[in-house]
Amino acid sequence: MVKETKYYDLLGVSPDASPAELKKGYRKQALIYHPDKNPDEGHKFKEISHAYEVLSDEQKRSIYDRHGEAGLANDGGMGGGMGVSPEDLFAQLFGGGGGRRSGGPRRGKAVLHQLNVSLEDLFQGKTSKLALQKTVLSKGCDGKGGKEGAVRTCTACRGSGVRVTIRQMGMMVQQMQSACDECQGEGEIINAKDRCKECNGRKVKQERKVLEVHIDKGMRAGQRITFHGEGDQAPGIVPGDVVIVLEEKPHERFRRRGDDLFYDAKIDLLTALAGGQFTIDHLDSRQLLVSILPGEVIKPDEVKAVIGEGMPVQRHHNRGNLYVKFSVEFPEPNWATPEQMQQLESILPPRHAIAPPKGKEVEEVVLAQLDASQRSKAERGMNGAPDDDDDDDEGHHHGPGVQCAQQ
Ligand SMILES: [Zn+2]
Ligand SMILES: [Zn+2]
Repeated sequence: MVKETKYYDLLGVSPDASPAELKKGYRKQALIYHPDKNPDEGHKFKEISHAYEVLSDEQKRSIYDRHGEAGLANDGGMGGGMGVSPEDLFAQLFGGGGGRRSGGPRRGKAVLHQLNVSLEDLFQGKTSKLALQKTVLSKGCDGKGGKEGAVRTCTACRGSGVRVTIRQMGMMVQQMQSACDECQGEGEIINAKDRCKECNGRKVKQERKVLEVHIDKGMRAGQRITFHGEGDQAPGIVPGDVVIVLEEKPHERFRRRGDDLFYDAKIDLLTALAGGQFTIDHLDSRQLLVSILPGEVIKPDEVKAVIGEGMPVQRHHNRGNLYVKFSVEFPEPNWATPEQMQQLESILPPRHAIAPPKGKEVEEVVLAQLDASQRSKAERGMNGAPDDDDDDDEGHHHGPGVQCAQQ
């Protein structure tokens, strides 16, 4: 049995509430009494925040359960003022929640990190470890730089860290600002013997921090994963967030759009005409064995889909589709004997009949093979590209120095 239930009542939860229930209760009550919504209930909002601050701390909660509010007051003043302002506590937990009130501690900037993730990892989900260099408060001095009372305000600059010198140069008066040399611009001085051994009076130190980034199945490029309060620490500020921004690495086999995947498949002519099978190595450990039915007939550039084999949809059970675009591999020249050609004639649909010349003169021609440069020229023409490879040395229909735009 708990001694009193006031704090639990403030959050609207029972004394056996789990940490998640406490947080939920706090959010619900705080939203009602947040000064942004309810400026007259500032006192109530403070009470709710204080109740949550106590109950969310295991040690403080057990003291409160055994001895009530009085127990906290006896415990070295723990029950007194809050470590953070109620608005900041709320913003820390739920983000936003109204602007920072004046007088509260300053909040550090959010730090963004890009994390490149393979399509495989976005497909299957993964926990990635990301190592960061982070500035933390020195534990030796709690970020104070030395023992209690060791820090003095610099008298030379009166704590501003800046000294102004005025120089008279003839008629001109020059005012110069420079970092105070007594305190190296810090505004305060700690005697060498009083300095914290761990940080040598600098109050902070560098630490290597490893963040575990949980990549959910189906996450997308540009999505953000926020680590609240994991930013650099500094005396007198609430650390900002570390925000991981996902970037998708290009994949050699698949392209992705939304929840769908796109794949280029190459099949042989026999499979295209008479059916058969081909495989797709998927993004997990599976290989898809895809059947083309006899008589289905796959044409070059045709697109078909394997339903439900696209990307998983984040936090859902459904999946996108896998679209397959076909290219058909034709046999090399002279692949068959004249007899086999005869057999083809009896199997394939007949040739298109040649249209009558309609009064025109008929001239017989043959097709020429193209070399590589002729072929690329022909392809550019086929695609409607502008005529840009004029072989004339002096471009007489271009002005001097004018180049045609390449697409
Ligand atoms: Zn220190
Ligand atoms: Zn100074």
